[in-house]
Amino acid sequence: MILSRISRALKDQNWLAVGIEFVIVILGVVIGFQISNWNQVQSDRRGETELLRRLHNDLLVLDEGRDQLSPLYANLLDRVLTARRALLSETPPPGLETQICAGLAASHDFDQPPDSLPTIEELIATGRMDLIRDNVVREQALSTLQLRDFARSVRQNLFEAQVSLMSAHPEHFTLSLETRPDGRESVRIECDLDSMRADPAFLADTVLNTRGLTDFVSFPLSFVDTHLDRLHAEVDEALGLETGHPARSEAETPS
Ligand SMILES: [Zn+2]
Repeated sequence: MILSRISRALKDQNWLAVGIEFVIVILGVVIGFQISNWNQVQSDRRGETELLRRLHNDLLVLDEGRDQLSPLYANLLDRVLTARRALLSETPPPGLETQICAGLAASHDFDQPPDSLPTIEELIATGRMDLIRDNVVREQALSTLQLRDFARSVRQNLFEAQVSLMSAHPEHFTLSLETRPDGRESVRIECDLDSMRADPAFLADTVLNTRGLTDFVSFPLSFVDTHLDRLHAEVDEALGLETGHPARSEAETPS
């Protein structure tokens, strides 16, 4: 239609009409391009929000798992430090309480804390990290992931260096079976404080385990927690959520 009008105007040497038709064609192309560009921007924005929501959910799942582990290991470390004081102090207590003794027996054992960030891992694996256009969130996510990988190897190295005190030095422990008030059986562990204090190899292994457990609690647990919290706060801000929102269900359905 436009082409036939242009060719007729050319034939009639009507240059004004030719010019107007050209302007109409160019304007049409420019407007079409702008609309498609705007649609792309809107679609990218929706995609980014969806990714941030998924990342937020990953962080909530991690929070939940890690919030349960952290107090357990803080408590274990507390008991092991109490035991170390009793073992090395010049004025020892008369014996080790059962709970403290059980802590000593478990001092070598720490699990890999939950640390998966599947949304970020998937974006990196597929080379689409630029879909998160918020610079602060993207950089914090990348540095958290890097730190997470380092923390994994630190935990593995610490874990491999720990000694099961009960397996390596069984002569200092006495095991017995007891029935709890709810009818379930459990193993009671008792420690011979005097023989432990007199055994340099046992003391050395205890010091080693205490150091390993302290490092585990301070780096793969607490330090990584701090970075995850920072990332969570950035994602909250990007999604317009209040930082420190209490419940997972409330956070998952932002208004
Ligand atoms: Zn949140």
